[in-house]
Amino acid sequence: EERIARVEELIGTHSDFPKPGINFKDIFPVMKNAEVFQDCISLLTEHVEHLTTPVDAIVGLDARGFIFGPLMAQRLNIPFIPVRKAGKLPGETIKYSYQLEYGSDTFEIQKSAVHCRQRVVIVDDLLATGGTMKAAAMLLKSLGAEVVECMVVIELTSLKGRDKVPAPLYSMIQYH
Ligand code: 5GP
Repeated sequence: EERIARVEELIGTHSDFPKPGINFKDIFPVMKNAEVFQDCISLLTEHVEHLTTPVDAIVGLDARGFIFGPLMAQRLNIPFIPVRKAGKLPGETIKYSYQLEYGSDTFEIQKSAVHCRQRVVIVDDLLATGGTMKAAAMLLKSLGAEVVECMVVIELTSLKGRDKVPAPLYSMIQYH
């Protein structure tokens, strides 16, 4: 697919960021090109449209999932639901803590954000170890939602994060 190649061409690589030994993939150059950014959103949206299960809502992960998720939700004319880092959401919430390379972090969602058996797709920019996506999927499942699929623009396949995610995983671009 030509559009995927155009997205891939614009992804930047920065060695030793944010820490020595880490090869950081930068998706922001994709957004600097309006046409390629449109293509990227179209590809993600078309993928959701082609799923056999109808999807009721798009869930985006703090912070770069907030770039893709709302644009997809608008195109699909369905709700957008945010999963945030702990301490940012008012009202009744549930939390899930997960391991990072160094230390841990906590994700949070409003209990009122989803209803039981709602069919959702979760989106983020990149899957590395899979801890972030797993935490989000666990939150949604514990509220009774059906996680139809988890989607990322980039998958770092050698980290095997896919094995950790408790739902089908789609990635547009893969790096070893
Ligand atoms: P994981 O929990 O899968 O190890 O890490 C994935 C999370 O960390 C995602 O939310 C993603 O935004 C961020 N992340 C980890 N590595 C990179 C990277 O190389 N580039 C970008 N853009 N984000 C990364």
